[in-house]
Amino acid sequence: MEVKKILNCSTTDPNKILPIKYQWARKYYKTGVANNWTPEEVGMQKDVETWKNPAGLTEDERRLIIWNMGFFSTAESLTANNLVLTIYKHITNPECRQYLLRQAFEEAIHTDTFIYCCDTLGLNPDDVYNMYLKIPSIKRKDDFVVAMTKSLMDPDFTTDSTQNIRLFVHDLIGFYVIMEGIFFYAGFVMMLSFLRQNKMVGVGEQFQFILRDESIHLAFGADLINAIIAENPTIWTADFQELVISNIKQAVELEYEYAKDCLPRGILGLNAETIREYIQYIADRRLERIGLTKVYGSANPFPWMSEIIDLKKEKNFFETRVTEYQSGTIKWE
Ligand code: FE
Ligand code: MN
Repeated sequence: MEVKKILNCSTTDPNKILPIKYQWARKYYKTGVANNWTPEEVGMQKDVETWKNPAGLTEDERRLIIWNMGFFSTAESLTANNLVLTIYKHITNPECRQYLLRQAFEEAIHTDTFIYCCDTLGLNPDDVYNMYLKIPSIKRKDDFVVAMTKSLMDPDFTTDSTQNIRLFVHDLIGFYVIMEGIFFYAGFVMMLSFLRQNKMVGVGEQFQFILRDESIHLAFGADLINAIIAENPTIWTADFQELVISNIKQAVELEYEYAKDCLPRGILGLNAETIREYIQYIADRRLERIGLTKVYGSANPFPWMSEIIDLKKEKNFFETRVTEYQSGTIKWE
């Protein structure tokens, strides 16, 4: 009797998606499809006027936008490459692979979003696309993720031993929980603060769409990690759990350093200290999501985040097809 598993499914055929065992993977696929969007659906005219008007934004506001463009423009490609070149190969279960294909498409949409933003605002691509190499607070985040997902980059890596499955889960946590679940969130808060104050609403809406997608990527990633651990319980040792907690703590500090750099002075009702609290709050949720105990106990300083990201409430805000999108029952943080 063939039994489907997430990894090392040599007894089952990776092309046979039915019958489905992992219903959550199927559910996330359907949610992703229902959330379909493209950057061109969001008008940028008002943003272009604001951006090109020297008095349209303060210097600090421009810095915050450019820093986030610099991080996200290359982070989206890094994410797509990691997904397609490394994760897909080892996840042999067909329903999970179907979701990975959908996710890869969404990462292409996100990459396209930053092309669209650069084009419409007239940003210099040489500046924006080199920030991940030149700006230390951005480079440190990217380097941290690349180092954390190193095993997956080795072309000879296989998930054929307990030790290697543990390495694989370690890297999946780096990819889904840290990159997509922590390193995107200071940027989301900053860009959605603009939207909330009715400034640069086009860019803000683009980030709102990306956040909706990323929250599904994160939910899938957490279910995937939990399923692999449940199927390979011996990998989940006390030492390994401690390593994961320590990685997440380091990520929180790197995200705080990034927030300080984006936001040297408080603006838009935001400052780096409040963002740090928010990141700690988010990190606690991520830890709990993969079965670990929270470490910070910080309160959520931005309760509006959960409201502003619920696109259902923005019905008349968009003139495009957004009203027809469903947002499902997934909690967005
Ligand atoms: Fe993305
Ligand atoms: Mn993603």
